[in-house]
Amino acid sequence: MSQPIISLQNISKHYSEDSSAGVNSINLSIQKGDFIAIVGESGSGKSTLLKLIYGLLMPDSGEIEFKGKPLHGPIEKLIPGHDSMKMLNQNFNLNIYARVYENIESMLSNEDLKSKKEKAQSMMNFLRIDHLANKKIIELSGGEQQRVALARAIITEPEVLLLDEPFSQLDALLKTQFRADLKRLNEELGITVILVSHDPVDGLTLSNQMIILKDGILMESGKPDQIYLAPAYIYTGKLLGNAFVLSADEGQKMGLKTKKENLMIYPEWVQLKSSWSSKGYLIKDIFFKGFYEDLLLERDNVQIIAMNPRPGIYAKGQKVQVVVDKYLEY
Ligand code: ADP
Ligand code: MG
Repeated sequence: MSQPIISLQNISKHYSEDSSAGVNSINLSIQKGDFIAIVGESGSGKSTLLKLIYGLLMPDSGEIEFKGKPLHGPIEKLIPGHDSMKMLNQNFNLNIYARVYENIESMLSNEDLKSKKEKAQSMMNFLRIDHLANKKIIELSGGEQQRVALARAIITEPEVLLLDEPFSQLDALLKTQFRADLKRLNEELGITVILVSHDPVDGLTLSNQMIILKDGILMESGKPDQIYLAPAYIYTGKLLGNAFVLSADEGQKMGLKTKKENLMIYPEWVQLKSSWSSKGYLIKDIFFKGFYEDLLLERDNVQIIAMNPRPGIYAKGQKVQVVVDKYLEY
């Protein structure tokens, strides 16, 4: 593998000596062009990790390198944040009384006015905000403002773009659009993206490397499909999917054998069908999810969840036959 663009070795940062809040002994290697997603519950240390990478926070110990050179924190630098990186915050830092094009152009120097105009124009085209060029920021919706902020962040052609929960203010439709924009700027402009999110879907759909944080500790990292399908920890399965856990005894009752303590199963691994090996379960509850529904099932005091891809065909109190296609042992 080539030299990483960013590497973290044993990075720890605690906000106070008597508290474990922060991040602990993080090792991480990011390649140019990667789309990294840092996923974890609220308070797991995601923002702390992002600020450490950006240089807004100094680690207590450990080393962060950018292209093989130590990255200095705010103590050593007057202006925090690395020149080759840009961070998009929840507060967009836009000049709300200025126009869209002015907000974007102001990021560039005045040396070559023609190229400045052209660059701003092509960036507005890229993010489909060219029709808003002459509007003032206060006249824009939250989603439009976010695209302007994104244009400002990438017009100076940073090598790395850092985003902290960029979807939190967007409704579902805008979220899908903004996800597509991020994917495009990663793939077409080659910008390395580091995205922090509490929503695992963002990481699963966008990233090529997903990092699971819990209580400031990097639990595991890897390709999203690998982490989802074979997580090292039950915690990860519960965070990323709707995994449920059975004890070895409960598994035994279902005909699932293990020498380990627990079984972890995703609802989509529970097939609703009858066969020689299927067992009858009582439908205790139904959770409608739109294009599918989760069925809470019970048999011999063991509860499981099955994903039903055809909502509306079952009712509470009915019995169904299921076959467990796959399970993981922990
Ligand atoms: P996340 O972004 O995953 O929600 P943070 O990185 O913001 O988590 O916070 C991690 C932990 O550090 C939390 O327990 C939080 O309360 C604590 N923390 C964050 N910032 C500060 C700060 N400036 N001072 C003290 N504690 C902080
Ligand atoms: Mg945060």
